[in-house]
Amino acid sequence: MTQVKDFTRTELFWEGKWQRPRSTGQLELISPSTEDFIGRVPDAHEADVDSAVRSARSALAPDSEWANLSQAGRAEAIERLAAALQARDQQIKELLGHELGRPVHLPPRPNRAAEILRYYAALTRGRETEQRRPSPDPRPPGAVQSSRVRYEPVGVTAAIAPYNGTLEMGLYKVGPALATGGSVVFKPSPQAPLEAYHLAEAALEAGVPPGVINIVTGGARTGRALVEHPGTDLVAFTGSTNTGRVIAESCGRALKPVVLELGGKSAALVLEDADLDHFHRMVPYLGFTFAGQNCFIHSRILAPRSRYEEVVDAVVSAARSIVVGDPFAPETRMGPLISAEHRDRVEGMIRTGREEGAVVATGGGRPEHLSRGWYLEPTVFAHADNRMSISREEVFGPVVVVIPYQDEEEAVALANDSEYGLAGSVWTTDPARGEALAARVDSGSVGVNTYGFNSAAPLWGRRASGLGGELGPESLHTYTRYQSLHLPGV
Ligand code: NAD
Repeated sequence: MTQVKDFTRTELFWEGKWQRPRSTGQLELISPSTEDFIGRVPDAHEADVDSAVRSARSALAPDSEWANLSQAGRAEAIERLAAALQARDQQIKELLGHELGRPVHLPPRPNRAAEILRYYAALTRGRETEQRRPSPDPRPPGAVQSSRVRYEPVGVTAAIAPYNGTLEMGLYKVGPALATGGSVVFKPSPQAPLEAYHLAEAALEAGVPPGVINIVTGGARTGRALVEHPGTDLVAFTGSTNTGRVIAESCGRALKPVVLELGGKSAALVLEDADLDHFHRMVPYLGFTFAGQNCFIHSRILAPRSRYEEVVDAVVSAARSIVVGDPFAPETRMGPLISAEHRDRVEGMIRTGREEGAVVATGGGRPEHLSRGWYLEPTVFAHADNRMSISREEVFGPVVVVIPYQDEEEAVALANDSEYGLAGSVWTTDPARGEALAARVDSGSVGVNTYGFNSAAPLWGRRASGLGGELGPESLHTYTRYQSLHLPGV
C-alpha cells in the first residue's frame, strides 16, 4: 500500500547552493493514486529565474572552474553525476510512485539516467573542440589559406521538461549541454518537480562546479520567464505541441535557437505475416506504458483486413492482462493518470470516439475496484478509421485504436496521414520487408518488431512532433556555436 509522505521542499538551486526563493508562491503536489496531499515546492517567479540564469552565466565566465576544465575533466564530472544519480535509483523509483503513480515494481531495467549521462561523458571525451580546415581556393586577393573552426558552448540552456519522465527528459538536455561546456537552468514539470531535487543533490555530491546545473520549479509563468530571459541562449523543450508552438513564437521573435520535442500519434503496422504472439507480448509496452502518458505511445494499430479480428483479439487480451492499481503493489503494471482534469479530458475523448462510431472492445471506463485515484481502464477501440478524432489527436492516456487496412500501400498511407511524426513500428516475420516498409514511414524513429530508445540514436520528431532533436552525437551540434578564425597561412 502507498504510505502517505510529505515531500515538501522549500528551496531552489543555483550557484551550487540551496537558495531561498524570492517568490512566496508554492505548487501543491497531490498523489494521483491516493489523491492525498504529498507536499509543496516553490513556484519560482521572475526574480528567481533571473538569479538562476545569472548563476548559469557565471559558470561560463572565462575564469570559472567549469570553463577551465579540459574535455576529460568535464567527462569525469558527468560520470560522477551519473554515479550519484544511479545511487539514488531506488529512492527515485519510489518517488515516482508517489508523485506520478508510476508502478514501482516494473521489470528491472538499467538505470536510464546514468546511461544517458555516461553516453554523453563518452562523447565529451572523444570530442574535438576545434578543427583546422584548409581553404579549397586559397588564391589571392584576400586569400585565406586555412581556417581554425572553434567549437564553443552555445551558452546557457533553458531546459524545460514535461511530467512524464521529467528527469530523463531533463538529462537529454543536461547531457549535451555539459558535454559541450555549457550550463543549464532546468525547470521540471510543475506536476513532477521532485525528481529535479535529486539532480541538484547528485550535482552537489558529484562536485559539478557551481552554476553549471541550476534548478527552478514552477509552472508556465516560470517557464515563460526562462524562455524570455535575455541571458538564456538556447531553449530545449519537451512537452505538448501547443506549448511548443508558444515557445517557438517567442524564440522566433528573439531569434533564440530552440529545440522542441513534442507530441505523437504513432502507428504500429502489423503486416499479414506478423508473429502475433510476439506482438501481443509487446502491446502493454507499446500502447500502455505509464498509462499511455508517453510521447512514443503507438496509439494507432494498423491491422490487415485479412487478420483484423485476430489482431483486435490480441490487443484486447493484452490490454486485459495489464494489472491496474496501487503503484506500490508488486503485481501492478499500470497506475493512474496524472490528474483529475487529465482523466476528464481522456474520458471526453473516449466519449467522442464512441459518438464517431468506433467500438469499445475493452475498457472505456474507470476500474471498479479502485475508489480513489485517477485511474482509467486500458481501452481498445475497434472499427476505428483514421479520420476519427480518436485516431488523430494525441490522447496521452491508455487508449489505442485498431484501424483496418487493405494492402501495404494503404498501411503506409494511413501511418503517414497524421499531423505528428515521432515514432512507429512494423511487425513482420520478414525483417527485410519490415526495414523496407519502415523507411517509408515518415517519422523520426521506427522499430522493426520492436520499439525503444537508444541514447546513441537521434530522437528527431517530424512535423507537429518537433523541431530539431535530441540524443545521438547529432545533439551536440545544437549545443555548440562555431567561430571560424581565418588565417593567411597553414
Ligand atoms: P506541457 O506542454 O503542458 O508542459 C511541459 C512543460 O512546459 C512544463 O514544464 C510546463 O510548466 C512548461 N510550460 C507550459 N507553458 C509554458 C510556456 N508558455 N513557456 C514555457 N514553459 C511552459 O506538457 P505536459 O503535459 O507536461 O507533457 C505531455 C506532453 O509532452 C505530451 O504532448 C507528450 O507527447 C510530450 N512529450 C514529448 C516527448 C518527446 O520526446 N517528443 C517526450 C515526453 C513528452
